[in-house]
Amino acid sequence: MTIALYPGSFDPVTYGHIDIVSRAVEVFEELVIGVFTIPRKNLLFTSEERVELMKKAVGHISNVRVEAYADLTVNFAKRCNAKVIVRGLRMSGDFEGEFEMALMNKKVAPEIEVMCMMTNAQYQFVSSSLLKEVAELGGCVEHFVPKHVATALREKLYTTQ
Ligand code: ADP
Repeated sequence: MTIALYPGSFDPVTYGHIDIVSRAVEVFEELVIGVFTIPRKNLLFTSEERVELMKKAVGHISNVRVEAYADLTVNFAKRCNAKVIVRGLRMSGDFEGEFEMALMNKKVAPEIEVMCMMTNAQYQFVSSSLLKEVAELGGCVEHFVPKHVATALREKLYTTQ
């Protein structure tokens, strides 16, 4: 049985992420979605909120569990017994960073493989950071995120401004 880990900051989860999850569960017997709690990013949502939004977003998919982690991704992968780390690749921007990170991970934990899945063309331009900007400026984000995430975005932006 091959367990895979799909790590990310998911601030917040988008249809692009959910697409990768639904495809990865067709390949691996079990998928752990790892919500990295301390990325070097300006976060909008707390780790608890990111986990809850993700849990609700993938609730309809079996063989998936969502967990928060705060250490090295490869160490978390080992704790989960995951042999594979899954990442998503959009056409521009993602490749260099993912390549660099995969080489570093290979050095640190050679037994773990990184596998990248190409984005669904439909979600090519969807990123958490862009949709936060759109939401902040009053744009509609319902095409990019599930309803509960759109609501959470509105509530968060409304109460923090
Ligand atoms: P990071 O892990 O770099 O903080 P995210 O949490 O936004 O970034 O994304 C987690 C993973 O999902 C990364 O591999 C990222 O490239 C991928 N991803 C993000 N948005 C999309 C998308 N629209 N389509 C496919 N993969 C995506």
